[in-house]
Amino acid sequence: MPRFRWDRLPRDIQLIILDLLVAERWLVFRKSPSDQPPRQHLSTYAAVCREWQAFFEKPNFRRLTLHQSDLPELERSVQGHRQQHVRWVWLRFQIPPYSCVDCRKRETQTQDRNHDLEFTRAIWALFRILRSWKQDATAPKNMFILELSAHSPGDGAHYFKELSDRADDAAHLNMRGRVKHPNDRRHHWRRHRWNRQPEMAARHRVFGSKLGLRFDMRAACVKKGTDLAKVPFVSHLIIRRQFHRAFSAKALLVIADHLPRLELFQYEPWRGLDDGEHQQMRDRDHGMLLSRAAKHSSSLAALSIFEDFTSHMHSGGMRFGHPVLAQLALRASYGLQRMCLSFLVDAKDFFRDSWPGNEDLQEANQPEWTNLEYLALTSHALNPLEIDNLAVAAAKAARRMPKLSVMEIWTCGPGYACIFRYSFQKDDRPDLRLSSTWGCSLQKATAVAWQHVAQDRGWNESRTKEVLLDHRYTSHGQIIHLLDLQSTIIDNISWRQLGRESRWYP
Ligand SMILES: [Zn+2]
Repeated sequence: MPRFRWDRLPRDIQLIILDLLVAERWLVFRKSPSDQPPRQHLSTYAAVCREWQAFFEKPNFRRLTLHQSDLPELERSVQGHRQQHVRWVWLRFQIPPYSCVDCRKRETQTQDRNHDLEFTRAIWALFRILRSWKQDATAPKNMFILELSAHSPGDGAHYFKELSDRADDAAHLNMRGRVKHPNDRRHHWRRHRWNRQPEMAARHRVFGSKLGLRFDMRAACVKKGTDLAKVPFVSHLIIRRQFHRAFSAKALLVIADHLPRLELFQYEPWRGLDDGEHQQMRDRDHGMLLSRAAKHSSSLAALSIFEDFTSHMHSGGMRFGHPVLAQLALRASYGLQRMCLSFLVDAKDFFRDSWPGNEDLQEANQPEWTNLEYLALTSHALNPLEIDNLAVAAAKAARRMPKLSVMEIWTCGPGYACIFRYSFQKDDRPDLRLSSTWGCSLQKATAVAWQHVAQDRGWNESRTKEVLLDHRYTSHGQIIHLLDLQSTIIDNISWRQLGRESRWYP
């Protein structure tokens, strides 16, 4: 039997085989989420020969998931041309595990301070390493994503077992595992589901400090007078709903200030706990972020904030948005191309100045949204009594959004769901669609208000459709895949997590 010679294969066939090997790692990973991570498969292939090493290094280094203890290795092994391969760095900041002695206790001030010190060291080290990387920051569409998260391995080991599934759930992996958690009466898991809410102290443990992770200026790296390095090529900053621990707004603003090319901030914080003070602190932080975005002094073009919540962690379902945050969001939106805010503010407050009857609030020269193309908001006003007022207010605002391509306002809760959508593509009539579980239809005055928007775009009227939604769409995890702007509102892996987890809650 003749020996197989790789080098005698035509180049086209060689490339097909190599591509198949890259694709095969996803199949292996999907078949068994507990299998060894895919990077190890590629590392094995890269060891075959120099030619294979050159080929597999690119997918191997494209996305890096790092613990803070991996940073020295990052500095050592990602050198030269390997730096050009990296497009995504996920710093998965990890704090020490804890036992059942502590799972129902809040973190102490000493623990909190130690986390801040370690977090400060990690960010200072990461930015110092990235600063020296050779990347072409000016190349169009040269996207570089920096992702941050913070957790303890203990967070998923006690009451919040869903966190153990999320720990390795990366946006660039296609995990579809259907994990069955064991019964654990001590932590309220029966029949693979929650059977009651964990105590407030247990919730505080996985949320960490109400202030969020902060920079501690007493850290040695800061004391030495070393400023945080600027990283000129990061275009996206992503913080997914992966874990409950928050980052303080002050820390996030310092990070953003050191990413001069930042174009997109996708932020999926958890709603503060229902003990009053915790939620106030989170809202104060969100206000700081929106205030900075409203100054329009950065390169930021897209802002998405998805404030998640669950029935076992929070009471009251979808909360009423904060009116002050809505006005800060409004000011921020004037400079953006894309804005998606879920649950944090209510569209009724966002469109307050255009609300029928509020004409006295309307200034003669209201600003235009000169860049805004995509807008998504949530609202309690999507109910049979207020929906027309909301749609009229949105139409009045849309007349000052000359580039608007899609606007979506949505809501959901026990027994109801509603989506109001306007979309406009060049060379096609504007499309107006109202989907609701109660079979809602718009009044004539509302249709006239949107006819004015269509006329501004050179059409006589919009194409209007009313859709009856199934009553099973009652949670944000279920309804979100019906939204046109789904991938802008929330990260793809996050909405898959939402769907997967909804069956664990009572
Ligand atoms: Zn425990």
